[in-house]
Amino acid sequence: MRYDLLWIAAVALLLPAACAPAPAGPPAMPVVVETATRGTFEVAGSPTPVRVPSQFPMTATPVLTPDPYLESRKRMVDTQIRARGVADARVLVAMETVPRHEFVPSDMVDQAYNDYPLPIGYGQTISQPYIVAVMTELLHLKATEKVLEIGTGSGYQAAVLAELTDQMYSIEIIPELAQRSRALLDRLGYRNVTSEEGDGYWGWQEHAPFDAIIVTCAPDHVPQPLLEQLADGGRLVIPVGPPGGYQSLWIITRQGSEYRNVNWGGVAFVPLKRGE
Ligand code: SAH
Repeated sequence: MRYDLLWIAAVALLLPAACAPAPAGPPAMPVVVETATRGTFEVAGSPTPVRVPSQFPMTATPVLTPDPYLESRKRMVDTQIRARGVADARVLVAMETVPRHEFVPSDMVDQAYNDYPLPIGYGQTISQPYIVAVMTELLHLKATEKVLEIGTGSGYQAAVLAELTDQMYSIEIIPELAQRSRALLDRLGYRNVTSEEGDGYWGWQEHAPFDAIIVTCAPDHVPQPLLEQLADGGRLVIPVGPPGGYQSLWIITRQGSEYRNVNWGGVAFVPLKRGE
């Protein structure tokens, strides 16, 4: 773990303070409280916590930006996610790390951490934080596993998954959303997300098999290509049901040529569209 870069970053933040008149009392030491290499950090001398991009410390020149939304995000995780039973510590950290406010329309930033989905244009939505966390937990991802998402949308779910694994693939059928989410994921440093525009009904054969597949739009049946592209032991988390209504969220686990289906419960997703 590259603590040295964190220290350099912390010292760089403190430099302006060093030029100001000395405050009364003992000098503030640059103390990095957290030990993770990514996430949001309290840095002594910085008025607000600092968010370290997910690729840090691989990035040569990390951009450390003040993160005024950290408190809202912690509250979101505590009250909407942990309190409702999501317990996987890695998932909770990922939800606390990804800056959801970056993924919502600029006139809705103040609602980014609220307990509901928000529109992202083109008739689509960014899912409610709780549902994102539940679906992520159901995938039981290990850091070395490969995951495919159908329905990139805003890119938020992709970013959450990219906090948990280095091999994240995502497909979006609406060209404008595919381009916008790609640009945003690049800006935020999520270089471990490979994305493309296309009809995710067909999966992504080139990169198959996948240890986990998550579908964030609802088909009325389980697409056969997704079942085929699951690795042995792989998990598919998918809402299935009539368009425009409620669907059931299914967890489908592959064991060789056998598939085991578990129904998690009722959800409401936008329909999976079909390409021309
Ligand atoms: N995971 C997204 C949720 C977006 S809503 C997020 O975190 O923001 C579902 C998305 O699925 C929409 O953007 C929609 O355009 C997309 N979609 C619908 N049908 C699709 C298909 N056949 N292939 C790929 N994406 C599809």
